[in-house]
Amino acid sequence: MQPFAWLRASNEGDAVAAGARGARFVAGGTTLVDLMKQGVERPSAVVDIGRVPLARIEATPSGGLRIGALATNTDVAYDANVASRFAVLSQALLSGASPQLRNLATVGGNLLQRTRCPYFRDLGSACNKRAPGRGCDARGGFDRSHAVLGTSDACIATHPSDMCVALVALDAVVLTRGPRGARAIAVRDFHTLPGAHPDVENLLEPGELVTHVELPAQPAGTRSVYSKVRDRESFAFALASAAVVLHMEGGTIRRARVALGGVATKPWRSDEAERELVGKAPRLEVFASAASAAMHGATAGKHNAFKIALAKNVIASALARAAGLA
Ligand code: SF4
Repeated sequence: MQPFAWLRASNEGDAVAAGARGARFVAGGTTLVDLMKQGVERPSAVVDIGRVPLARIEATPSGGLRIGALATNTDVAYDANVASRFAVLSQALLSGASPQLRNLATVGGNLLQRTRCPYFRDLGSACNKRAPGRGCDARGGFDRSHAVLGTSDACIATHPSDMCVALVALDAVVLTRGPRGARAIAVRDFHTLPGAHPDVENLLEPGELVTHVELPAQPAGTRSVYSKVRDRESFAFALASAAVVLHMEGGTIRRARVALGGVATKPWRSDEAERELVGKAPRLEVFASAASAAMHGATAGKHNAFKIALAKNVIASALARAAGLA
């Protein structure tokens, strides 16, 4: 690991000032420290933001929740309001990592997780995300875990987060504070597609700190489910996952949200699937059509074509569970 300066911030202003001077933020350290040990990340300065008071989970006046960026994944998953009113988020968090990691990992860090593409972490491989312009060894390589939606010639890496998939389905908003002031960014827009610049992964500007995530109130009676398929039952990333949120009234789906993980280069909201659902009765055939619509346009490589069929099954099954049909 190359030498780096270690700073500590006790408030948002100090953290943003250090970030604006080029320091990387660290809280739980469950991503950045690993990547620094591997030589993938080589910051010259790191600022510990673990003592900045941003760990509270509070109700908002409009009936939603405001979650501090330093709330741990465990605290959020077991929060009584999250578990009862935003079940999909609790389920997504508990399906990720291990209890030990969830005790340290924070909401802000989870939003900024970096890909688990093995070539990204192998300094001997070509990787446009790690070293822009060097090529992508995953293309034409072992791409079993890679994306089938949102890919580009430059990168096919999946976004690894479960939490972000649930946040997209909940229409969550990221609140930030940076050198140019405060911003609110919808989570669905927060992560960027790889395009020609896979090294750019989100809309944050240099020194901009994620301070909170806000969950808007859901209509009464809304039901939500997170479903995840992986190679083993714990401590594994999704091969395909789905976060679904349904609001039904009088035997009809009035509002639907469908988001996907494990299959796309960013947490993936499927407008196509939602259009197939709204206005219909909750039936298994409708869910199958929505699942097919969600994967329309998916493009597989040599080893990951199975993900397209798998994702359809995961989506349809999550919708059936949310509707009480499974
Ligand atoms: Fe790097 Fe993306 Fe290619 Fe993986 S898929 S090697 S992260 S450029």
